[in-house]
Amino acid sequence: MSAIAANLQAVLARIADACRRSGRPAESVRLLAVSKTWPIDCVLAAAAAGQRAFGESYAQEGAAKVVAAFDRHRDRDLEWHFIGPLQGNKTRIVAEHFAWVHAIDRLKIAERLAAQRPAGLPPLQVCVQVNISGEASKSGCRPDETLALCQAVATLPALRLRGLMAIPEPCDDFAAQRAPFRRLRELAETLRAAGLSIDTLSMGMSHDLEAAVAEGATIVRIGTAIFGERQAQTP
Ligand SMILES: *Cc1c(COP(=O)(O)O)cnc(C)c1O
Repeated sequence: MSAIAANLQAVLARIADACRRSGRPAESVRLLAVSKTWPIDCVLAAAAAGQRAFGESYAQEGAAKVVAAFDRHRDRDLEWHFIGPLQGNKTRIVAEHFAWVHAIDRLKIAERLAAQRPAGLPPLQVCVQVNISGEASKSGCRPDETLALCQAVATLPALRLRGLMAIPEPCDDFAAQRAPFRRLRELAETLRAAGLSIDTLSMGMSHDLEAAVAEGATIVRIGTAIFGERQAQTP
């Protein structure tokens, strides 16, 4: 078994354990394998081990892997998620290559994605990113802006609003890890109470997936625990 296949099994076991501890069915959490900075061969190794959904954070690099998997390697049923921050000049390439976008933090970006989504493709599945820990440095909309932004995004053609995403401050304490995930879940509940039909909480990374699953994550985004430590960040 390749190292990637073994890591993937270990991560799936962590998810299954966390689900069992919370009384959730294992299928209620999807694993998104975050392959940013890793070459297409790593994606293919994970795909050979059964992984279908992949996350990328850099538009050009990600689109190149989408094309390589599809054309060169004929792996046509992978599902590609764009999880990075999105600038206006990168929306077209993302709208053309990805199935999901996780980090919508302003209406302008959602409108560009909607306008640029090719007519032949299914609607782009989107999440609104919330700055749930409130640090000035992180992207994401403010919790008190989330309802209005989600209501506006939900009306756009060619997009389908699926839920919320967050990247809390890293910390080691389990209870402290849970707190921001709980706030995101409660925020999603208020959106549902306001009439939005959303089903996704994209939260949890390599170091805190157990806390995220305990608070209701439906997608966990895992890079390091599957592919190893990233060497360098692509700009
Ligand atoms: C890189 C990245 C991840 C994966 O983080 P790991 O700690 O490597 O698991 C998850 N989400 C986002 C938005 C990322 O940019």
